[in-house]
Amino acid sequence: MSSPDGVSMNGGEPSVHDVVVVGAGFAGMYMLHKLRGLGFDVAVVERASGVGGTWYWNRYPGARCDVESMQYSYSFDPELEQEWEWTERYSGQPEILRYANHVADRYDLRRDIRFETTVTGVDWHDADNQWRLQTDRGEFRSRFVVMATGCLSTANVPHFDGVECFEGPTYHTGRWPHEGVDFSGLSVGVIGTGSSAIQAIPVIAAECRELTVFQRTPNYSVPARNEPLDAADQADWKANYRERRARMLTQQAAMVQRLPDGEEPAKEATADEFGERMQERWEVGGFTFYRAYGDIGLDAESNGRVAEFVRGKIAEIVDDPETAAKLTPHNTIACKRPCLDTNYYETFNLPHVRLVDVSETPIERISPAGVVVGGEEYPVDAIVFATGFDAMTGTLLRMNITGRDGARLADHWDAGPRTYLGLGVTGFPNMFTVSGPGSPSVLTNMIPSIEQHVDWIARCLVDLRERGAATIEPEPDAEAYWVDYVNAVADLTLFPTCNSWYLGANIPGKTRVFMPLPGFPPYVEICEDVASDNYRGFVLA
Ligand code: NAP
Repeated sequence: MSSPDGVSMNGGEPSVHDVVVVGAGFAGMYMLHKLRGLGFDVAVVERASGVGGTWYWNRYPGARCDVESMQYSYSFDPELEQEWEWTERYSGQPEILRYANHVADRYDLRRDIRFETTVTGVDWHDADNQWRLQTDRGEFRSRFVVMATGCLSTANVPHFDGVECFEGPTYHTGRWPHEGVDFSGLSVGVIGTGSSAIQAIPVIAAECRELTVFQRTPNYSVPARNEPLDAADQADWKANYRERRARMLTQQAAMVQRLPDGEEPAKEATADEFGERMQERWEVGGFTFYRAYGDIGLDAESNGRVAEFVRGKIAEIVDDPETAAKLTPHNTIACKRPCLDTNYYETFNLPHVRLVDVSETPIERISPAGVVVGGEEYPVDAIVFATGFDAMTGTLLRMNITGRDGARLADHWDAGPRTYLGLGVTGFPNMFTVSGPGSPSVLTNMIPSIEQHVDWIARCLVDLRERGAATIEPEPDAEAYWVDYVNAVADLTLFPTCNSWYLGANIPGKTRVFMPLPGFPPYVEICEDVASDNYRGFVLA
């Protein structure tokens, strides 16, 4: 029987393939395209009704990519690079979703994607070296599975007493209604002040009657300076794409900055030199700010100097000193995911916007008509949860994955995720994770990181096919080494000093382990080296 959306289901029979890919975001789409071109029979399973992953779900007002458009795009096909026209320095969510759909159409991907299908169980069967994937629409079987499930794909909605009796609508930024939301004339409450909230707050404020922001931890943010993309700039990128893409791969975060990375220690700069350099980067906008000096992420004193610069900006921008004080962070800068904004701090100067600090007195409950903090009710008509995600492991652990001998991934990862290279897991043969924990993933421009993983996995599958190997899986020692390596690298940085989602600290009860690996270029070299050295650290059988 042919299903309405591509992959055929044979009545009640399992759908059998060489490879099943879970997720049709940027990783899943490219994995499908790449493996198809190499002659593999691939099916993609996707819970959404369309492609795009993150950009399918995160449709909140103001959703926009923090990586510049000319760099947040696929590099695998020069024709695709040339034909697609971006319109802004940073693309908004609708434009990125249009791009994802364009890619799906251009490479005829949909015929192998089964949409609106949720994976409920994934089990390895030793007897026939196959994975069996249970979904709410039938079973899939395959020799290989690729988890292209995204790093930020399971929403974190904290429980607040009384929320079920709230009389108005509630929304999570990562599950925004497709038909959009009209806030005009309404009093809106936003809970959270991470990247999503920082983008959404100015846009919601421009629409609603009254906005109350419930902030637990203030955040540093730097202007994005979004603007229409200059035609000459776009043409220049297109003319030099090969050289620029190659340069991106040599950069820490897999993106080229507008200004060269500073190498010197910030703490040694004179006051004048420091002030001028930071001011220039504040005006240019974007992540280049955080790369003004070489040791911002490594040295507490240098970091503190940069943090103080942003604190000064908040004091300058925000009119009311009490609100400015509440908005001012005192933790390490950039040890949580750095934020970029368009008029975030400025929004708190608007008369209909107020900030409620819930750091010391947490939200007590949600009443039918509002949010209660310290016994006081803040009336709202609608609540936006901008409360983030169960990052990096949340989606994988919810799929009930069992490997060899019925071992549960949830048990294997009880003390935090364990992988080799962020690509494979011991005891889970033939399962690959794209941008999995232990790889640079969320510390980088995601699309080059995705392409690097997809290319590596594709090369590996071709090599296995050529050698007649049925399975591949990390050796226990290689995995143990890699976990220690990731921790050791993270400990050289200031990353572990904040309660970030990188550490799992945003989810009550989640084990605190630094999950991504800082440093993209050395990682790419290691992956190349492992593959060239007969997949060192993996067992091929
Ligand atoms: P997030 O950074 O985890 O922020 C969640 C916010 O909700 C935090 O302010 C958090 O406070 C607050 N919160 C959580 N539970 C709460 C509770 N019980 N009471 C009060 N406040 C609570 O999530 P996000 O903003 O969705 O961003 C997640 C990641 O998505 C980003 O770091 C980024 O990687 C990605 N993202 C990217 C873009 C982009 O490229 N433009 C845009 C948006 C998101 P605490 O800080 O105190 O925990």
